[in-house]
Amino acid sequence: MHRAGSVAAYPIFPAMTKLTRRTRATLKTRTRLVHAGRDPFEQHGFINTPIYRGSTVLAPTMAVLEGRTARFVYGTRGTPTTEALESAWSEIAGAAGTVLAPSGLAAVALALLTLVKAGDHILVTDSVYRPTRHFCDTVLARMGIETTYYEPLAGAGIAALMRANTSVVFVEAPGSESFEMQDVPAIAAAAHARGAAVITDNTWATPLMFAAHARGADLSVEAGTKYLSGHSDLLLGLVSANEAYWPRLRRTFDAFAMCAGPEDVFLALRGLRTMELRLKEAEHQGLAMARWLAAREEVARVLHPALPEFSGHAIWKRDFSGSSGLFSVILKPFPKAAVAAMLDGLELFGMGYSWGGFESLVIPFDCSSYRTATSWNPGGPPLRFSIGFEDVGDLEADLDRGFARLRQVPEPPVE
Ligand SMILES: *Cc1c(COP(=O)(O)O)cnc(C)c1O
Repeated sequence: MHRAGSVAAYPIFPAMTKLTRRTRATLKTRTRLVHAGRDPFEQHGFINTPIYRGSTVLAPTMAVLEGRTARFVYGTRGTPTTEALESAWSEIAGAAGTVLAPSGLAAVALALLTLVKAGDHILVTDSVYRPTRHFCDTVLARMGIETTYYEPLAGAGIAALMRANTSVVFVEAPGSESFEMQDVPAIAAAAHARGAAVITDNTWATPLMFAAHARGADLSVEAGTKYLSGHSDLLLGLVSANEAYWPRLRRTFDAFAMCAGPEDVFLALRGLRTMELRLKEAEHQGLAMARWLAAREEVARVLHPALPEFSGHAIWKRDFSGSSGLFSVILKPFPKAAVAAMLDGLELFGMGYSWGGFESLVIPFDCSSYRTATSWNPGGPPLRFSIGFEDVGDLEADLDRGFARLRQVPEPPVE
């Protein structure tokens, strides 16, 4: 353990690790995922940082207590467990610093509240995660912050929507239901030219497939609940910041004390070690299923950024290094009862929210019911798939039986 009274200022890399800074600077992401945020020799040689639970942290002297100079001062401010994940994530995300929140949505709220004040105007993509929209329309509106939703494909055209009091442009690429790709570098350049900050919700790609900070994000949010967990067994949010915004993010986090639970952080650290392997497999499985679905006669369109026929494919290819296992399809027109018959009878696909776990999921959704800046008329029932690690042939067989049920339910009689 750290010597009592040590004044080491929050080291990004633990002090006693055998990895030298010079070696560390040359490491590939795969190697970083194994070593980041870990120092076995601070934990009696044990490989993983244990779960530190605690509120009180004792100070050895009055001077240390009053000066708050110890490495850890109180449970809400951080523990060796939270620091391990924060420093690892900063390293992977290319960030100056990271804070951990109790859920992805809490991380979204924390990122926004780091940047806004009463009287501000913010721009949020119309394709944003729906609970983010709810937070803006309720909590932020009540605080006197006005939200304008913008066409996700606006690109550099976002400049026309900027006002003197626009403080934030919020992007999410791709949108987690409709999968519109956003030109993040162009949007960031336009925002920065007018002094606004950029937040990205990078949950779909994770830092492993989209380098949000390098492409212009000042703050980047990740719902760790999804691919960092990978097992549908924890709730966690992460906000990372570039150099310019890190002090502000950390101050806001400390003011809220909206901190993540130690078990969830421990599980997320465990997930981090295999995250690239799981994402690569999710990409592989997701693409196989997307292509199989694209060839089905019941399917009108597949919304998957890595498919060449998808409208946002060029941006994805330019800015992203891979895809994850989450995508949507638009069915040809079928009555709602037929879609219900298809989904209700599925034996391998679960129906439920969230995604990024080992099991495959499917949900119906309807963006047209809440969008305000753009009208979304898919022309048939939309379904969102999160592809897990089952055998692809087994998944196809389950869906094949589902499509048979879809075709069987007759149109309701015309009154
Ligand atoms: C799930 C999700 C969140 C919120 O994460 P929770 O941990 O479920 O609160 C935020 N953004 C996106 C894009 C998500 O998919």
